[in-house]
Amino acid sequence: MREDWQQRFAEAPDCLKSSLLQQTVVPVLDLEIGGGEFITMAGPCSVETEFQLMATANCVRRAGARILRGGAFKPRSSPYAFQGHGLDGLKMLARAREASGLAIVTEVMSEDDVPMVAEYADILQIGTRNMENYALLEAAARSGRPVLLKRGMVATIADLLRSAQLILDNGNPNVILCERGIRTFETATRNTFDVAAIALLKQISHLPVIADPSHAAGHRDLVPALARIAVAAGADGLLVEVHPNPDKAWSDGDQSLDFAAFDEMMAALDPYLSLRELEHERRRRGVPLREAADMRPLEAVG
Ligand code: PEP
Ligand code: MN
Repeated sequence: MREDWQQRFAEAPDCLKSSLLQQTVVPVLDLEIGGGEFITMAGPCSVETEFQLMATANCVRRAGARILRGGAFKPRSSPYAFQGHGLDGLKMLARAREASGLAIVTEVMSEDDVPMVAEYADILQIGTRNMENYALLEAAARSGRPVLLKRGMVATIADLLRSAQLILDNGNPNVILCERGIRTFETATRNTFDVAAIALLKQISHLPVIADPSHAAGHRDLVPALARIAVAAGADGLLVEVHPNPDKAWSDGDQSLDFAAFDEMMAALDPYLSLRELEHERRRRGVPLREAADMRPLEAVG
């Protein structure tokens, strides 16, 4: 890694690649995040009803997702909006895991809730509004569960890595970084998808990096394109909002895909994932790029 990156991110030394550690692989049930497999996490913004969650779990599993997302504790822009079902939502998630075999990622918003959420979830999500809530980060780290750390909406890459460093410092190596869009002067999209952050983080950090195209875009029509871009930038996985009837969703309906659109998004990712696999294989075998042309079946690029 370039020396100036080392210096720039000197406050997060343990997040950076070293000769000893090039890639952290986070184990979640029988899955590995940051390993060879691209991992899609998908599900509703909020856990609403048993039917909504089960139907979504079935849809996303059939389409190739490996992890079910869903918020039981919801940070909302408006204090009057639905705040989540809390413990009942966690129990619905646990039943959905039982029925679908999918692992569960869900947000924890308060350090007091960490033990309860950690009892039901396989991955603890720290939301954008809490990226610098150090008491929460410490409690999440100490739970022993993997932590999915979302980038604060006004956080720099250095800020994100500092928060990740705090989790590592508290004895938890299983941190997954998530680019979910940042706030800029642009308002046509909900946030601005910082794809360079994905490419840079993959270059300098050994931690797995995933992308959330849903919160980045804010509009469901843009989600599939941002998902493809995330794969091309080197992301290890995705976090995507899916709902049986997005127009009736209790939160984030505008950016949620319905089942058919999610299925199509996943199908459209396939050629990109084939290229990604070939690239992994090329690097593993140490084949120079110029000599790799015959490794590349043309049908893979569609
Ligand atoms: C979410 O994943 O539903 C969520 C609230 O995300 P963020 O913290 O990125 O806004
Ligand atoms: Mn949401």
